[in-house]
Amino acid sequence: MSSRTYVCFPCRWARRAPFVPAAAPRCVHCRQALTQLDRRWRIPGHGDLRGWRRLTTALALDARAHRRPEPPALDAALNALDRQLANALRQPESARLYWRLRALRARRRKRLRQRRG
Ligand SMILES: [Zn+2]
Repeated sequence: MSSRTYVCFPCRWARRAPFVPAAAPRCVHCRQALTQLDRRWRIPGHGDLRGWRRLTTALALDARAHRRPEPPALDAALNALDRQLANALRQPESARLYWRLRALRARRRKRLRQRRG
C-alpha cells in the first residue's frame, strides 16, 4: 500500500501514513482531519513559520488552478459535511440550528453535483 504525506496546518506538523480513501487520519495533537499532500510539496520544518505561510498560499493557488478536486478529496469533504450534519442534528432545535442545517445541506448538494462532474 502506498504512503502519503498528511499535514496539520494549525500544528505545523506532518507525517507519512498509508493511503486510505475517504478516511483522512487525524492529527495526534489537535484531532483535526489532516490534509493529504502529494510528494511534490516540500513540508517546512515546525519552526519555519514563513515556510508554512508560503505552503498555505501555494496550496490555495494550486487548488484554484485545479478546480475539480480529486475523488478522494471530494469524498473526504463529503464525509466531513456528513459528520457536521450528524453533529448538528443531535443539538436542540433553534433558529440558529435551522440555518446551519440549511447551509450544510446546500454545501452537501453542491459537493454531490461536483462529484457527478
Ligand atoms: Zn493538529
